[in-house]
Amino acid sequence: PQLVNQIAAGEVVERPASVVKELLENSLDAGAANIQVDVEQGGVRRIRIRDDGSGIPKDELALALSRHATSKIASLEDLERVASLGFRGEALPSIASVSRLTLTSATPDAGSGWTIRGDGGDRFEAPMPAAHPEGTTVEVRDLFFNVPARRKFLRTERTEFGHLEEVVRRIALSRFRVGLALSHNRKPMLQLSPAMNEAAQLDRVAKVCGQTFAEQVVRVDHEAAGLRLHGFLGLPTYSRSQADLQYFYVNGRMVRDRLISHAVRQAYQDVLFHGRHPAFVLYLELDPALVDVNAHPAKHEVRFRESRLVHDFLFRSLHKVLADLRP
Ligand code: ADP
Ligand code: MG
Repeated sequence: PQLVNQIAAGEVVERPASVVKELLENSLDAGAANIQVDVEQGGVRRIRIRDDGSGIPKDELALALSRHATSKIASLEDLERVASLGFRGEALPSIASVSRLTLTSATPDAGSGWTIRGDGGDRFEAPMPAAHPEGTTVEVRDLFFNVPARRKFLRTERTEFGHLEEVVRRIALSRFRVGLALSHNRKPMLQLSPAMNEAAQLDRVAKVCGQTFAEQVVRVDHEAAGLRLHGFLGLPTYSRSQADLQYFYVNGRMVRDRLISHAVRQAYQDVLFHGRHPAFVLYLELDPALVDVNAHPAKHEVRFRESRLVHDFLFRSLHKVLADLRP
């Protein structure tokens, strides 16, 4: 089973950033209101994520580290309407198989916390008592210490941290109500308190995407045929050399999708720019039954049941906003 875990890890865990993504998604699924991420050496030496979510009961700690033990799907119908971010039950076992992992947690009624640790194997000793407030802390040390071939592919501390920070940014923009903090080698890098109103949201956008972007955005909010598009669109005056300020979320999940990029690009080119990279933070909400988010374990792709409808809705909504901006 350990080999199976390590093979699965090859798909789920590419670098420290992928560990952070999986752990943050678990914290969100657990209903955390505040999440603290502390990493050392780009996350290679240490990643520690603490949340104040629902916690894991003592007798489920070992289970959480074993394959396909997800608490999130009870039936096949559930699988077709997945609202939670994780649902395969392979992230924790995969990460545990390629690192030294410590899982510490306390549930509201337990009175105290419990901890369990693994050393890259698939056997875990009985949980030990540990002081811990309600919620969960996962600590991942020495990523790929037992898989030299993968360790070799890790880049510099700076590059790895860059990827990791990007994951935190994406999640910060997906859940405004969740407080998030990130530190690197003990230095605070990002401090985001829960953003409950529009002003606070724009403040978070400024912290995550930069002040210049936040000063040059227009708000979007359009609804038609059961679809809603809202968020922030960069003004034509905002220009950025790289194409990387493009965040698109479908039902709270960040996606990169050709149909979406195409609709956005067309709207921009049609009204305003030629050859510039549009910058945006946009959210599409629609009936979960109309999207398939189960397409790939890396979970960046989606499939729309009615792709034509979605494309036209996006194009029209953005086209209207941009056309209104024309002098
Ligand atoms: P999945 O998220 O696909 O269910 P994971 O391997 O990521 O699988 O996690 C396994 C299980 O461990 C989850 O289903 C959940 O029950 C539990 N778990 C993991 N992280 C947390 C957390 N931060 N808070 C509460 N429960 C957690
Ligand atoms: Mg998960």
